Amino acid sequence: MDFSRRQFLKLSVSTVAVLSTGLHFDTGKAKATGYTLKLHDATEYPSICHFCSGGCGVIVHVREGNLVNVEGDPDHPTNKGTLCPKGAALGQVRGNTRRITKPLYRAPGGKDWQEISWETAVDKIARKIKEVRDTTWLPATNSTNAIGLLGSAELDNEECYLMTKFIRTIGSNYNEHQARV
Ligand code: SF4
Repeated sequence: MDFSRRQFLKLSVSTVAVLSTGLHFDTGKAKATGYTLKLHDATEYPSICHFCSGGCGVIVHVREGNLVNVEGDPDHPTNKGTLCPKGAALGQVRGNTRRITKPLYRAPGGKDWQEISWETAVDKIARKIKEVRDTTWLPATNSTNAIGLLGSAELDNEECYLMTKFIRTIGSNYNEHQARV
């Protein structure tokens, strides 16, 4: 017998409905039990999603140092238990083996990235900023148009304050934020 995809789906749904009715299967109870088992012995911590300036409240559950669950905080006034897809995927940030944790450098014209130390990276950036500032300085306005700063929702208030001070101090008015780009 041939089935179209739509017929197959209809049949599957009807079968599940008949089985759950006939067997008196309580899906709500099963879900609640699964939830309890999943969080058994886990410690609950309130936290804040770090992805954007929405600042949604999250509850994270940790067992033996491992993050086992992330969900929206129903008591948080911003999101009242909801999370957008980014926030819901928050757990993937921790322990992600593809996360880059060391500075990478690709030489001009080069194809390959090489790992460098934080000291070397900071030194290179500082020298480049000085070079660009010196070669593009506009005495008439006492500023440079060649350097800008792009902030991020990952920054907290104090970091934003310091970065704004920094970009003003080196003589640029170009202080932007990812959310406006
Ligand atoms: S859950 Fe989504 S909307 Fe809320 S802070 Fe995180 S990224 Fe922003």
